[in-house]
Amino acid sequence: MTLDIVGADLPVRLRSGATVRFAHLDYAASAPCARAAADAVQRLLPWYGSVHRGAGARSARSTLEYERARQAVADFTGARSDDTVVFTRNTTDALNLLAHALPAGTTTVVFDGEHHANLLPWPNAVRLPTPPDPDTAVALLDRALAGIAGPALFAVTGASNVTGELWPVRRLAAVAHSHGARVAVDAAQLAPHRPVDLDALGADYLAFSGHKLYAPFGAGALVGRADWLDAAEPYLRGGGASAAVGDHAGDVTWATGPARHEGGTPNLLGAVSLAAVCEALAAADRNALHAREQQLLARLQAGLADVPAAVPVSLFSDTHPRVGIVSLALPDHDAATVADRLGADHGVGVRAGQFCAHPLARRLTGATRPGGCATGPAALLRISFGLGTTDSDIDRVVAALSAETGSVA
Ligand code: PLP
Repeated sequence: MTLDIVGADLPVRLRSGATVRFAHLDYAASAPCARAAADAVQRLLPWYGSVHRGAGARSARSTLEYERARQAVADFTGARSDDTVVFTRNTTDALNLLAHALPAGTTTVVFDGEHHANLLPWPNAVRLPTPPDPDTAVALLDRALAGIAGPALFAVTGASNVTGELWPVRRLAAVAHSHGARVAVDAAQLAPHRPVDLDALGADYLAFSGHKLYAPFGAGALVGRADWLDAAEPYLRGGGASAAVGDHAGDVTWATGPARHEGGTPNLLGAVSLAAVCEALAAADRNALHAREQQLLARLQAGLADVPAAVPVSLFSDTHPRVGIVSLALPDHDAATVADRLGADHGVGVRAGQFCAHPLARRLTGATRPGGCATGPAALLRISFGLGTTDSDIDRVVAALSAETGSVA
């Protein structure tokens, strides 16, 4: 099982007519596919069949592989005996499932710098202003939870999809637990870069997406405490989620366990490829991967220091620990235009906009009005990388930015 990247050397034709190796630096949107995931799909393709629904060899193998995948995700996240793993479409789906399963009267608390996937699913959430530093975050959460009676959930990202900065999840979780609140971690950006052990993070729930974790599209997971999920109405009503259906409307016994929320035919290939990456990452030398990522980050930051028109933005500080994500404000340029030119004229793929974190992007750019997602002064340009990124990719994006913003590199 390898973490080599499939399509690491794709050629692209530039507007000038030249052909260059594509430098993919938009991992935070979707990471490229790891060989481990591709191999897992390849192995299963001749065999795939109906999961949990047939008696033949294809079905038996598919059911086995699907449940093995569930176990691999459980192992990857250090799931405890009272946790469950529900396969979802992605992180957004996983967090919406958790929101659906909240016991009546639960108050959710979030910071407003979250990705929309962790901002919008929660009914009547208490939104706290994104703090200037981790100590303030802890104090704000402590104060907010002290004022809440009844069940509470604190939902926080592990790493910002805008700045890449790590949130002090462990400290925040300890505060939340001291108030009897549960903790959900949006690990969409954390899981590709750092180990995601529920206990180590202090999390009750983890949500993440396969397509950001070097697996193809279509599968994600919600891992965590089973009790709320077991007690909730099925997320998707239909076959698979039902154990017995009577002759009258409403006469139904719903399935228990993860099947309760996995109505319909599941995404076997998605689950298996996600699990294959989980296993490959678990077997990898995470310290070495981390060291390489930090090397690339330092190279990028050093290069950007010579591009004055591009100003890196931070939630907490420029030196706060972060994963391989850096966003830039371009006060004198239109970020979308620059990003387009990086693609068309330099073969470098980045992303411009507000990255589905509008309140945070507005704060970081000093913009005051909602909207203007793709262009204008509220837009940022994001560079994000991971496995398979080379020194040359980093040098190319710096040189391209320098050329397109008229900076001297
Ligand atoms: N949370 C964070 C921090 C993200 O960066 C993203 C995607 O960019 C999501 C959630 C949503 O992920 P998905 O689109 O896979 O549901």
